[in-house]
Amino acid sequence: MSDSNHQNRMQRKKEVVDERISRATEERGVLILLKGNGKGKSSSALGTLARSLGHGQKGAVIQFIKGRRETGEYLFFRDHPRLDWHIMGQGFTWETQDRERDIQAAEAAWEIAKGLLGDPAYNIIVLDEMSYMFKYGYLDAVPVVEALKNRPAHQNVIITGRTMAQPLQEIADTISTVQDERHAFRGGVKAQAGIEY
Ligand code: ATP
Ligand code: MG
Repeated sequence: MSDSNHQNRMQRKKEVVDERISRATEERGVLILLKGNGKGKSSSALGTLARSLGHGQKGAVIQFIKGRRETGEYLFFRDHPRLDWHIMGQGFTWETQDRERDIQAAEAAWEIAKGLLGDPAYNIIVLDEMSYMFKYGYLDAVPVVEALKNRPAHQNVIITGRTMAQPLQEIADTISTVQDERHAFRGGVKAQAGIEY
């Protein structure tokens, strides 16, 4: 491609992008859903959280599935002065056998989340692995959708989990699916600190 051709193409591209930018004028918080079987949902949510905190904003994380407590992200973020980190009480884990206890823990975590969604001091809230609570019937999506709709207008919310409840998808502003093409684990690589947790 000649230089002038390239310049023409770039000029046209710039016009299209500028036009899109001029049309996006609304200022408000968004609901982002990160779903799919591939690796990268929670880490993306936390990357966005870092971005917000970097701008002086205030945030909170609620982990709906209690895995390893001392994850790198928890150790990194827990002392941040403008961040609250909650791990769901007794906690649902893959090994859990006690459905009643799981439901109680899910409800307690939801109570915390509801409080945050009603609090305009919080700019960003990450509801990590919350989607499983709907999948297993531990939480009802209706009150969650209500609280999300009624949250402060500037508040951003990110929900992660492999499968997303349909009512959440209906009200989301951004939905990204992380597709699994390959994962080192299946190639025999052990989960490692700094990459998996
Ligand atoms: P991450 O926290 O690394 O962003 P994630 O939130 O997208 O991952 P989860 O479903 O929450 O994925 O699973 C978390 C853990 O499972 C991580 O240790 C991750 O490396 C691993 N994992 C994620 N996807 C896969 C996959 N397709 N196969 C095997 N392990 C996976
Ligand atoms: Mg995750």
